[in-house]
Amino acid sequence: MKPVIALVGRPNVGKSTLFNRMTKSRDAIVADFAGLTRDRHYGDGRLGEHEFIVVDTGGFEPTSTGGIVKEMAKQTRQAVAEADAVIFVTDIRSGVSGHDHEIAQYLRVAGKKVILAVNKAEGMSESPLLAEFFELGLGEPHPVSAAHGQGVRSLTEAALEGLVSFDEPDNDEGDAESDRDDTPIRLAVAGRPNVGKSTLINTWLGEERLVAYDQPGTTRDAISVPFERAGQKFELIDTAGLRRRGKVFEAVEKFSVVKTLQAIADSNVVLLLLDATQGVSEQDAHIAGYILESGRAVVLAVNKWDAVDAYQKETLERSIEQRLPFLRYAEIKNVSALKRQGLGPLWKAIADAHASAHCKMPTPVLTRLLLEAVEHQAPKRVGTFRPKLRYAHQGGRNPPIVVIHGNSLEHVTDSYKRYLEGRFRAHFKLTGTPLRIEMRSSK
Ligand code: GDP
Ligand code: GDP
Repeated sequence: MKPVIALVGRPNVGKSTLFNRMTKSRDAIVADFAGLTRDRHYGDGRLGEHEFIVVDTGGFEPTSTGGIVKEMAKQTRQAVAEADAVIFVTDIRSGVSGHDHEIAQYLRVAGKKVILAVNKAEGMSESPLLAEFFELGLGEPHPVSAAHGQGVRSLTEAALEGLVSFDEPDNDEGDAESDRDDTPIRLAVAGRPNVGKSTLINTWLGEERLVAYDQPGTTRDAISVPFERAGQKFELIDTAGLRRRGKVFEAVEKFSVVKTLQAIADSNVVLLLLDATQGVSEQDAHIAGYILESGRAVVLAVNKWDAVDAYQKETLERSIEQRLPFLRYAEIKNVSALKRQGLGPLWKAIADAHASAHCKMPTPVLTRLLLEAVEHQAPKRVGTFRPKLRYAHQGGRNPPIVVIHGNSLEHVTDSYKRYLEGRFRAHFKLTGTPLRIEMRSSK
């Protein structure tokens, strides 16, 4: 599971700047999860091979009656509770303040790993002013400049130390392993509160009379439930808002964004549940956006299909098309978890998505498809350049990546890439998974 790093500190020390910096290295999906977390931001970060989640606690304002401390404490507590490591951000230009001492005091007893960052230290990494920050009793201060990117890498390394192994790349995909037929499909069931996640899962589990048991995670209290269906092994990942209580799953009242992000990252296939009686909400779109970014395979299930009339059904189809256009490759299944309707096709869609995501694309086949596609429709000339597409190989799975080699490939347009994607998709009958295309020009 991806480690979670929380950024805490008083306003204006540069938390959001640091957040942007830490999540910038890849296309950060900064999910606001409207309506769920007004005061915290979540983003994906990457340091070399290692992915992590950053939580920023910015966005709270001092209130009149000394409320700032209270509000800060509340924000800090929530973020810290979810985190594996905390970066406490301070500001070298304003020095150590009373509020800093209060936060430090809380962090010293919170029992989490804390890294002390002293921001706005561009050109001041040797400054005697740094010494003052030892007072906070949180170990050595790390001078950084979030605005200029200085020291951010080693700060991140310090935060991740002990949470990830820097010696061996964490090769979580393990291609050889996923070749084995008995490798379980890691399934995450995501969706906002009340869409019917626990009802669906309990229906499944009850139906299968499975031997479900908790598997304590390696680093944290991750739980997954193994079960079998029609000879296929599954591993249900303990998802946001869901907890096992004895033999049944139940919704917990608080939706955890971090749990959702981790479960998605940890899965092969995500089942995104929508509520037919509620339509497609902004929260649904946010979760869907994250799934897209994660590259995981996805199946959409519209639950509570039993509870809507013909008019609503029609409206729903249109609103899915409009609000989740980027998940066009996902299969959409209408189900009723309560009435146990539509569940068979749902299993098939999940298995198909998984198979597509792990599809093997031999180099000769990819290259032939590529050359046929070019022959059918060549890429446009750009100025004096005409991209020359020579051969293709598979660069990864879940999601499948097709790497195309040739010359002047930087001039291949997005629409031409979509054209190629369509041809590859059609040939390999891909469904429910994104397909990424990478261009590699030789000089
Ligand atoms: P937050 O309230 O803690 O999230 O702080 P912000 O990220 O919004 O930053 C507050 C102010 O500090 C902004 O004007 C930033 O441009 C500035 N700032 C952030 N990082 C740095 C830095 O490394 N150096 C300097 N000089 N200013 C910074
Ligand atoms: P969760 O928060 O996503 O785990 O949602 P729950 O499983 O707790 O379900 C929320 C509510 O929706 C409960 O009252 C369920 O009985 C109801 N519900 C779940 N699935 C269905 C369904 O397929 N049809 C109808 N009509 N109600 C459902």
